[in-house]
Amino acid sequence: MKITNLKATALKNKERSLSAGPGVCIVEVETDNGLVGIGEACAQSENDEAALATALILERGIKPIVVGLDPVNPRTIWEKLYLETEWFGRMGTVMHAISALDIALWDLMGKELGVSISRLLGGRFRDDVKTYASIIFDMENFDSMADEAKIWIREGYKAVKFGWGQTRETAFGLDAKRDEAAVKYLRESLGPNVDIMVDVGRYVNWTPAHALEMAKRFSNYGIFWLEEALPQDDVEGFIWLTERSPVKIATGEGEYNRFGFKRLITTHATDIIQPDVGRAGGLTEGMRIADLVQTWNLSLVPHGFSSAINVAANLQWVASMPRATLLEFRRTKSPLMADLVKNPFTAENGNLKIPDRPGLGIELRPDVVEACRVRVN
Ligand SMILES: [Mg+2]
Repeated sequence: MKITNLKATALKNKERSLSAGPGVCIVEVETDNGLVGIGEACAQSENDEAALATALILERGIKPIVVGLDPVNPRTIWEKLYLETEWFGRMGTVMHAISALDIALWDLMGKELGVSISRLLGGRFRDDVKTYASIIFDMENFDSMADEAKIWIREGYKAVKFGWGQTRETAFGLDAKRDEAAVKYLRESLGPNVDIMVDVGRYVNWTPAHALEMAKRFSNYGIFWLEEALPQDDVEGFIWLTERSPVKIATGEGEYNRFGFKRLITTHATDIIQPDVGRAGGLTEGMRIADLVQTWNLSLVPHGFSSAINVAANLQWVASMPRATLLEFRRTKSPLMADLVKNPFTAENGNLKIPDRPGLGIELRPDVVEACRVRVN
């Protein structure tokens, strides 16, 4: 089997807001025996530039390297791309592009061999996984925020994460008293049995001292973890915070490849490591990161806030990990999550079944790809 062509498409959700979520860049890798592998780069930016830039790198930079290669070699192709794309930059958009391509190669390999990716990664430790409903803070209306969480709790979710905010001006994290009031309100209205996670996000820049003070305040309401309380690159700050915090600290969605994660993991900079498989380097790199996390005896909970392709890749990935207790599942409205694939993922009692069909086990809906395509004049 040989790669004959590669098609990269920037997609977006029509609705534009912080909560509507990011665009993505999908890739379809075609082969001489008619198979097509699908991958996704999580390429978040408010005006689609990240997804468009990823598509450009895939079509202009990566396609010439991979056309003619046998795709049943994802690890060797990963190393080749890492080496030969160095002048695009080692991380950032080029790593998003490599991630998408890598996921597509694993999908192709599974389709060619007739097995799911989780089996190719070494086998399945589980057939389903608990998810948490990932939604957005509404700092102007605590009632509607709690009501949204209750919808998911009624559906059986046992964990809900609240992130950043509806707008930059009204984001969580801008006012300590209000932040504490929001978490207190959520605990009181959702009851004692729901895990509540707090994702500070990147619209505020807390100092380590402030993050520790807030971690102590939130610990009174039993939060399950505090996410991205510091800028993503402040590894020393995270080490300091994680050592002292009464609640678990989470970060990693912005980190790249095994070398980036080595810093976070071997310094115990965080308790929960949250790689995005569509950003950190795909499943080839994801496997290495998961092994590092396992070796340092920390927890890995994949980031997942983009499309159903990302969910499909995450499911195959977590199936192959000896310890994987939880997966992020975006529950804010998104056609890229709800409509992009035939038979979209739906959780039962908060659990997602892990497909055991060839490759990722999904099929794209071309009409939705067309409807969500970013058009450039
Ligand atoms: Mg986050």
